[in-house]
Amino acid sequence: MIKNYINGELREPVSEKYFDNFDPAIGEAYGIVPDSDERDVELAVSAAEVAFPAWSNTPAEERTRLMLKVASLIGRDLAEFARAESVDNGKPLHLARTVDIPRAIKNFEFFASAIHGFASESHSTPEAVNYTLRNPVGIVGAISPWNLPLYLLTWKIAPALITGNCVIAKPSEITPMTAFLLSEACIEAGMPKGVLNIVHGYGSKTGSAIVSHPRIKALTFTGGTKTGAHIASVAAPMFKKLSLELGGKNPNIIFADADYPKMLETTVLSSFRNQGEICLCGSRIFVEKPIYEKFKNDFVERTKSLKIGDPLEHSTDQGAIVSKEHMEKVLSYIQLAKDEGGTILCGGNRFVPEGRCENGWFLEPTIIEGLPHNCRTNMEEIFGPVVTITPFETEEEVLMMANSTEYGLASIIWTENISRANRIAAAIQTGIVWINCWMVRDLRTPFGGVKSSGVGREGGMEALRFFTEPKNICVKL
Ligand code: NAD
Repeated sequence: MIKNYINGELREPVSEKYFDNFDPAIGEAYGIVPDSDERDVELAVSAAEVAFPAWSNTPAEERTRLMLKVASLIGRDLAEFARAESVDNGKPLHLARTVDIPRAIKNFEFFASAIHGFASESHSTPEAVNYTLRNPVGIVGAISPWNLPLYLLTWKIAPALITGNCVIAKPSEITPMTAFLLSEACIEAGMPKGVLNIVHGYGSKTGSAIVSHPRIKALTFTGGTKTGAHIASVAAPMFKKLSLELGGKNPNIIFADADYPKMLETTVLSSFRNQGEICLCGSRIFVEKPIYEKFKNDFVERTKSLKIGDPLEHSTDQGAIVSKEHMEKVLSYIQLAKDEGGTILCGGNRFVPEGRCENGWFLEPTIIEGLPHNCRTNMEEIFGPVVTITPFETEEEVLMMANSTEYGLASIIWTENISRANRIAAAIQTGIVWINCWMVRDLRTPFGGVKSSGVGREGGMEALRFFTEPKNICVKL
């Protein structure tokens, strides 16, 4: 049974109500989640208020020590965390073990050390010197999605805590398990009461109570664009600091001179890794005409060889879709693609594995061609194992198509012509550009999107700045 983590303790929700937590690989409930409401959020905020003066004055060395302790406890229990993430989300266990959980550990380790290189500004003239203090904002809310549950939650919690804030965190109600394990690790690490509070529940209830709480001063949110717009509409008139990491519809641009084997291998990953449920997946693939047919054949063949099935089996490439509702949404987009005149080159259907997972929510990886760049299938985020492929002739044409959605999170460019790569990188409307690679991450870099993919940047010093409030002090000389 999952419990809330409030004021250093594991507690039942005030309502004493719970809802089911599902294992998508078997399509059955396997646990229960607190159905928290504004009363639980109020308790968490009150605990955070009490904790804030001491925590914000705790030396950075001590905060670092605690964060490293939490990181080491996650590391000690990595197998348990990875299994919990895989069961909760449907992702392959080996992915949780090699990517999700190690990255959660790294998030704590990275910010525990980054704080020591965080400096504030000073400006001087002959008459005066100005220096800027960077104080913690206060109590911050952190709301995260289901696709990379612990990875993204800790990406928010770690920089918020290290800069001296107290945090009210809400993981996705669809994947709450590793956040619960994190609360146990924080208790064992000796995290002071009320510094981190994790309140579980639905977005419309618990999330909403966090967003509209007048004493929560900043919000870091990762999730869908529609939810982000709603959150902004509530939080902006309250003058809260906002960091919004939202949806994407990322272009993957492949020129004929690309390093073909490397491109093909990476494109299979950037299309279907984590069931295509990564905001950074390249779901619109544009291929230069001379290699279009060859790419199409090779890509379809490689995709057909992906092994779909039990996430706990080592040989599985693609696990279950996170929920029945999401699986149905993705299927409805495949139907839309057909209605819009697209041709399904492979996949397109629900997949039924044999044995233990026969009632699970699985989809075949799907490749679609023959759609105009500006149809709904190519404009709207699907967030599943579905990609479109489209030929192009010129650099101008592909840039126009790449930039034609409302989204602007990430892009991928494959070419050995470095001038062209840099030219496109400069003109493409995304916050992140990968040239000849994908998902190569350096935690010091600014992370985030433009247009409807978000507002603000997280990562590195950007995150430390977001979670601090600058105060300028002018001293007359
Ligand atoms: P979602 O917007 O439905 O939910 C995200 C979180 O917000 C959940 O914790 C949910 O409970 C909460 N929430 C929902 N309604 C709320 C409300 N009214 N007030 C406050 N909180 C509320 O998104 P999702 O389906 O969980 O995640 C998928 C989306 O996340 C995709 O659009 C994907 O692109 C995006 N995403 C973006 C990034 C990024 O870095 N830009 C990373 C991962 C996922």
